[in-house]
Amino acid sequence: MNRKRDLLKSLKIFENRLVVVVGAGVSGLAACRFLLSLGARVRLVDAKPDLSADVLLKVTPNPSSAGLTLEAGPHSAAQFADAHLVVLSPGVPVKKLASVLAEVEPWRIVAEMEFASWFLDEPVIAITGTNGKTTTTTLVGHILEHAGLTPFMGGNIGTPLCDYLMADAPADVLVIEISSFQLQNCRTFAPRVAALLNFSANHLDYHLDMEEYLAAKLNLFGRQDHGCVAIAPEGMRHGLEARNFTKARRDYFTADTDFRCPGLPGAHNRENIAAAWRMVRPFGVTEAQAREAIAAFEALPHRIQPVGEAAGVLFVNDSKATTLDSVAAAVRSFDRPVRLLLGGVFKGGVVADILPALQERVVSVGLFGASREVFEPVLAPHFPVAWDQILEDAVRRQFALARPGDVILLSPATASFDAYSGYTERGRDFARVAAALMDEQNEGNQP
Ligand code: ADP
Repeated sequence: MNRKRDLLKSLKIFENRLVVVVGAGVSGLAACRFLLSLGARVRLVDAKPDLSADVLLKVTPNPSSAGLTLEAGPHSAAQFADAHLVVLSPGVPVKKLASVLAEVEPWRIVAEMEFASWFLDEPVIAITGTNGKTTTTTLVGHILEHAGLTPFMGGNIGTPLCDYLMADAPADVLVIEISSFQLQNCRTFAPRVAALLNFSANHLDYHLDMEEYLAAKLNLFGRQDHGCVAIAPEGMRHGLEARNFTKARRDYFTADTDFRCPGLPGAHNRENIAAAWRMVRPFGVTEAQAREAIAAFEALPHRIQPVGEAAGVLFVNDSKATTLDSVAAAVRSFDRPVRLLLGGVFKGGVVADILPALQERVVSVGLFGASREVFEPVLAPHFPVAWDQILEDAVRRQFALARPGDVILLSPATASFDAYSGYTERGRDFARVAAALMDEQNEGNQP
């Protein structure tokens, strides 16, 4: 026996212990599965009152004999009173549960990602930041693969870490994307390589202020030691060094990189690329291997993704842009006139901050759905601004205004929940309208 997880399993630390898992999403269910394999009894709690007990069948065919139960509906202190451990799903902010968790010792509360990390021997590259986490996590995995290593990419994206532990298909390196929710009450997590890609207003509706949000992000570096690497933007060097934020070796990056990647346009992506190179270097990847891998990397869906062209007008889907910073980054990555589509559930920040970026390229703004009152007063003095209730009407309106060579860019600066189940559905809706406009153009051009 040489692996930590075999050793911990043999010690039977969780056998017959009651563990409460909060959140019945993909990661919560993975945590249930792994905990049952450790012999724990598991109570899955989820705030959705109408959640059917069938969800337990995704964990095990016979929940009651396996020791798995579900409590759906508003959380209560009683649900947690007898818990040996409380495991939180990535989307569950611990603060929102403060009142029901008041009687639970803080060290008994752990994020799914940190819980899984207790069982890992493999080196971890952990990536956080306001924007670019998924892009960079995927890119880092791609470079490692190209260099002949076997990475696992997961965490917030794709496979939860608990499922990785269950799969028993060991990787050489784990590349994981981490949100600030998961870092909030982090106590033991110490990745070999940790990267903070950038930091700007996001989730301010949840975090009290920027300071608290930054403190959560910096938790990632807090337990790293001298053998580890901490990667952060050069622009944050001064502030971070003043805080004495880590014992790890520090490596700062800028957008100044000569790696080229047609699939990742813009200065913001050059930063992501520069950071990714610093992350893979400690694993023996050569510059030539990185160069080749980066050049071949393709754009991810819903992130500055061209989805078609009609009458010389390019449609670009950046539905994943839920922050103002990512909108500015997307607009700046074009050298042609941009007709910008904005709207949805605004997550905070100062719209005027992105005016300089918009003024470089934007020729008109199409607002749609929610948050009109946030955008219109700031943007209307500078650009022609129109508003439509639904995205389709806004796209069609911008298309009617567009000239050949223009870009119609969906980079909405918002969460999509006013009208869609998520950014993916919103992006697909945009692509659908773009395709319809292309068809209509083709039909119109037929003799
Ligand atoms: P995350 O996983 O952090 O949400 P994604 O890689 O999914 O990040 O990208 C989200 C949005 O942010 C996309 O619109 C993308 O173009 C934009 N983006 C990516 N990297 C950066 C960056 N370094 N700075 C600003 N915006 C970025």
